[in-house]
Amino acid sequence: MTTIPRPPDPALRSADQARAILKRHFGYDDFRPGQSRAVEAALAGRDVLVLMPTGGGKSLCYQVPSQLLPGATLVVSPLISLMKDQVDGLARAGIAATFVNSTLDGEEGRHRLDAVEAGTVKLLYVAPERFSGRSFLERLGRIRVSLFVVDEAHCISQWGHDFRPAYMRLGEIRDRLGCPAMALTATATPEVRDDIARHTRLRRPIVVAKGFDRPNLRWHVLAARNDAEKDRLLARLLGDRRRGGGDGSAIVYATTRKAVDAVTDFLNRRGVRAGGYHAGIGAGERQRLQDAFMGGEVRVVVATNAFGMGIDKPDVRMVVHYNTPSTLEDYYQEAGRGGRDRADADCVLLHAYADRFTHEFLLDQAHPDQRTVEAVAKLLSMAAAAAGGGAVDVHGSLFRQAARLAGGARRLETVLRLLSACGALEKEGVSTTGAWVRLIASEARARSELASQPTARLLLESIRAALDPDVAHHWSPLPPEDLLPAISPTDRARLLGDLRERGFLEWRPHGMGSRYRLLEPFAAPGRGVDWKREAAKHRADLEKLRRMQAYAYQSGCRRRYVLAYFGESAPWRCGRCDRCLPPARRILPGWPAPKKRMRRG
Ligand code: ADP
Ligand code: MG
Repeated sequence: MTTIPRPPDPALRSADQARAILKRHFGYDDFRPGQSRAVEAALAGRDVLVLMPTGGGKSLCYQVPSQLLPGATLVVSPLISLMKDQVDGLARAGIAATFVNSTLDGEEGRHRLDAVEAGTVKLLYVAPERFSGRSFLERLGRIRVSLFVVDEAHCISQWGHDFRPAYMRLGEIRDRLGCPAMALTATATPEVRDDIARHTRLRRPIVVAKGFDRPNLRWHVLAARNDAEKDRLLARLLGDRRRGGGDGSAIVYATTRKAVDAVTDFLNRRGVRAGGYHAGIGAGERQRLQDAFMGGEVRVVVATNAFGMGIDKPDVRMVVHYNTPSTLEDYYQEAGRGGRDRADADCVLLHAYADRFTHEFLLDQAHPDQRTVEAVAKLLSMAAAAAGGGAVDVHGSLFRQAARLAGGARRLETVLRLLSACGALEKEGVSTTGAWVRLIASEARARSELASQPTARLLLESIRAALDPDVAHHWSPLPPEDLLPAISPTDRARLLGDLRERGFLEWRPHGMGSRYRLLEPFAAPGRGVDWKREAAKHRADLEKLRRMQAYAYQSGCRRRYVLAYFGESAPWRCGRCDRCLPPARRILPGWPAPKKRMRRG
């Protein structure tokens, strides 16, 4: 029997071509799970929604098709630095790509767009704000675009963690271009997913949700009533030589700098050598600690979430959360720094019911209501009128009054930010009046390291001289201007920033002492604020917090719960989280898991 040769399957052909590009330009033999589906769907002209964790390999999902599609691939990306990294990386891989943004002069921008129009460059990166420029839109009309890509697409959603208004217009652009679209994000909650699909106007998209699962991670929750109990649990977890101290490293995440310092001290007293990492310790010290951790000299790091950007240490065996984060996205990302080498690692959440009050408080501070904003705006406009000009210094008694109206200093900061964002106010500069300061370096260190910077040294030493030596190492009000050398307020703020960065002192302006210019008479203060959006954002943040809490109280398999949150299905039981194991085999046998409702002590 003879077989009639079949015509080549066009899908198969493009799949082979895609793999050839993957090998030739990126040096990889195989796509990761999900990548091939996304690539093939894009090549077949389908809309695609790609949900993969950070580091999951989203970029290749559109970079590979860009080399096979007839026209250009237009990529919307939120940050100039991201675009530059990508374009540089592609150049090294032998792929011509370019970006246009506001940092380029007109001539250079035109050249780059010429190359895209001519088809010699197939990948063009832009920020969403580009689309508000008429000339860019006109130009775009002449470019043949085969694929419209929205990277970090959660920015389109009020449920996403960094919402960007400019993203809201992308649906319109997508319809104008009329080509297939691909949206990519690491935030895969159903709400964000729906928003993305709606706002980018995806049509019957192929949804690729892959790569969130980390089968080698074991999930545990240990209930604690208070910090003392958490400390004891931590000592047991890390004191065990087989774990954190022994053949691998451990990271302990805590929310505040104060907690980081306290936990680090506690562990060192208990004989577990640990380094404390937060923004307050100075850039040099941070780098030293990070290097020591990467090199294995320091096995345990206690840190705020500032630690971890770019940390890719393979043998982190345990990630402990001393405080419950406010979202599962944050938790999963931080806990996911364990077990990069694919060997087993433990993710332990030390959960106290009361942790949620901190988050609720912070969320409340971050979302002032309309009445509050209007009341503050009115106060400021009256103060500006009384001062006979269009500007006010928000410090001293005005600051205290405004903070009282706003319901706290932190909330006042949010109010001022909202009013600035909607164009009612403009910050003119930072003044350090009313700031708080704390000295953290010795006089000797200041003398030797600041020898060549007399002004910085003079400022530091006059602060030291003006403060009571007993309180110099605690937060104290910055000494009044007449006790400090004559340096302009802007220069002083800059010098303080510099000294802080280098670990000589800490200071916080605390929203005080800022000078604001009123840009519009406050007939209808805050009228530019989108209150519906603000309210929706607040609700969304509370809902995320609720889901994070629910993780701790969850009675079923933890891994399944997390994966469901990210839209991935999982077997009923992972067999290795604390919910799947009998009490005697849990990470701290005998420690009770949290009950539905805990007594608070
Ligand atoms: P994301 O955008 O999802 O955070 P990236 O696209 O930046 O992730 O990719 C993360 C890393 O994974 C990169 O270093 C990339 O080279 C690597 N990577 C991507 N795809 C593959 C693959 N198929 N095989 C091996 N490594 C890959
Ligand atoms: Mg990416």
